[in-house]
Amino acid sequence: MIGEVEEEFRDSVAHISAEGKRVWFFPKKPKGYFYNLRSYLSWVYLTVFFTLPFIKFHGAPLFMLNVIDRIYILFGVRFWPQDFFIFVLGMLIFVVFIILFTVIFGRVFCGWVCPQTIFMEMVFRKIEYGLEGDRKAQMALRTQPWNSKTLTRRILKIILFFAVSFAIANTFLMYIIGSDAVWNIATEPVSHHVGGFLAIVIFSLVFFFIYYWFREQVCLIVCPYGRMQGVMLDKNSIAVTYDHVRGEPRTKHIKKTADQPHGDCVDCLECIRVCPTGIDIRNGLQLECVNCTACMDACDTVMEKTHREKGLIRYASENSVLTKTKLKLNRRIVAYSLVLLALISVEAFLLITRSELEVNSVRTRNTLFTVEPDGKIGNLYNIKLINKTSNEMNIEFRIEGKHASFDWIGHQNKLQSGEMKNGELFIYVPVDELPSQRNDVKLEIYSNGELKATENLVLLAPNKLNRP
Ligand code: SF4
Ligand code: SF4
Repeated sequence: MIGEVEEEFRDSVAHISAEGKRVWFFPKKPKGYFYNLRSYLSWVYLTVFFTLPFIKFHGAPLFMLNVIDRIYILFGVRFWPQDFFIFVLGMLIFVVFIILFTVIFGRVFCGWVCPQTIFMEMVFRKIEYGLEGDRKAQMALRTQPWNSKTLTRRILKIILFFAVSFAIANTFLMYIIGSDAVWNIATEPVSHHVGGFLAIVIFSLVFFFIYYWFREQVCLIVCPYGRMQGVMLDKNSIAVTYDHVRGEPRTKHIKKTADQPHGDCVDCLECIRVCPTGIDIRNGLQLECVNCTACMDACDTVMEKTHREKGLIRYASENSVLTKTKLKLNRRIVAYSLVLLALISVEAFLLITRSELEVNSVRTRNTLFTVEPDGKIGNLYNIKLINKTSNEMNIEFRIEGKHASFDWIGHQNKLQSGEMKNGELFIYVPVDELPSQRNDVKLEIYSNGELKATENLVLLAPNKLNRP
């Protein structure tokens, strides 16, 4: 509750007891409109997460972030270390987007998109509800003595949690090294893939540790995004908010009585019971709130039962609760939007103008030209080519409007995917096609008949008096 009530809740955190021990939470299973919506969305996310590594485009994965071999593929387009700046800019845009989004919509990302929340609340928590029952049953299970029933449930839970962690670990690895490589690890002798096998084991154990034991502490202790909320949110940011104007003074009386001042909160504590991070949203915006909406559903159910208007806990900003006004554009939102727009424009420009074949050319030092026996004039260039596609290229050089011939010394014209060739290129042009001493020409580089890149060069030639 903001402003009026004691603020002792700020002196402690819900997940650590007065003795300094971990407090285990047993959130009640949420039910309601938002939980259903989040469940449906989670099925979409999970389907995408588990199927994406198997989708291929022109023989290459649609997505791959292979930091080991430095292979980065996004939407089927392969990025090379030379494109790293595009990649970094993409990441920067993502961060700015998250900040901007947070300024306006608070931690909506945490509740609706974050993989940690999706897996914890929509996969592992549901397994738990299925095996151990709802909040009360889980709490009873914790305290009751071990017997064959509790032991069986615990073992089953460990097996299921590890199986899902194993599936996540394998899929996660597929995003790094590709589904084919993970398949090879799974089907070939361990001795052939010791590193890959260890990676799967370690990832599986880490995920198991997170979801079986560490759980909400990822959001409360580890996640930097949660820690940054204080600087990103303002009084106009939308978040899961308790309407203290309407709710206070809270009273346990279910029915309104005219002789006693009362708000709409019936102090049933349902919003706390469903909270996966164990907080009381009525204390106002808190770092621990991951905007999961469980308390909104719980409170709406209570409001319905007590014939009150729904939305006592709802998506709202602090200001909108106080003044009943809607979200307003403020200077920070405008500034972030402009920065975001500028970054997206630059990124789009870089992606559109990104060449599949990177070319660097420079005239070989201390050379002029050669006069060949057949009357052609030769110019020597140092040229570097990088094939940025996933396919082999058959390189062919041409000079626009001239009968030129080429000798790429020591190199064949084939360029494998990702291959870089650096060498000397002799360019021969008939003397009568070089009208002056300095001739601006356009070097065109084709692969399989398709123009892939152009370079502006200057070809030197003898002056008219010294021509053969
Ligand atoms: S669920 Fe609603 S009515 Fe019940 S304590 Fe929470 S805010 Fe008050
Ligand atoms: S306070 Fe509400 S929205 Fe925030 S984490 Fe708890 S249940 Fe979820």
